[in-house]
Amino acid sequence: MIASVLCSTPVVVSDVPLQIDPDEVLRFQGYKKGKDRPTPEVAEIYDRALAEGERLMAPRAVYRAVPVTALAPDLMALAGGTEFRIPEIGRLWGTIESVGIGVCTIGDALEGRVRELWESREFPLAAMLDSVGSAAVECLAEYVNDLLCQVAIRERLNVTNRISPGYAGWDVGDQRLLFRLCPGDPVGVTLNSACYMSPSKSISFLVGIGREARVDHYFTQCRRCWMKDCLYRRVPADRTVHRA
Ligand code: SF4
Repeated sequence: MIASVLCSTPVVVSDVPLQIDPDEVLRFQGYKKGKDRPTPEVAEIYDRALAEGERLMAPRAVYRAVPVTALAPDLMALAGGTEFRIPEIGRLWGTIESVGIGVCTIGDALEGRVRELWESREFPLAAMLDSVGSAAVECLAEYVNDLLCQVAIRERLNVTNRISPGYAGWDVGDQRLLFRLCPGDPVGVTLNSACYMSPSKSISFLVGIGREARVDHYFTQCRRCWMKDCLYRRVPADRTVHRA
């Protein structure tokens, strides 16, 4: 487990008691939360896919931190010379002292089963299981983000929301820089020449760390965090990503 949010050597987080948020699965299926409800036939496929997904996923993550040496509105320079150009990062994260780098995955068994289902023309179950996998890795990234916040509180530090290459105007080519700093090998994640990760149900991310770091720039992190009686909680958790 992660002893310090500032740990400079990669640490593997395994045996993750991950709870997939059912709303997240339906979101990947195009349902609007609180508005659309699946029909009984879809609900049956959903139950089957969720059971298969929970059996097949193997959630794990690798994490390390690197000190920040310079900050500008759209750029951060790190110890060792790496520079990340990320639009508006200075405004979004405020003053940070380090970045945390993570690569998380649910492994490749689920996507192998999705391929089998496509080949045997079980299309509805294949599509639903694929959504279960996408939801699972999103929930895993959120789990790790929450975990980092929990560790950082003990160190009197803030941790920002995560951001990933390819999103919010950040060049996907920076995956290479990210993987150089925190290779995915310890959890079996590789990067191809087009910057796609394998297994595909993987997420790489950065978080900002610091006493003055801004949190919640695009959603309130606490909403799925399982930490009971946290003095710093900003919203109640309606559902958590930690299996009870
Ligand atoms: S409840 Fe919120 S502030 Fe407390 S550890 Fe969880 S994410 Fe962090």
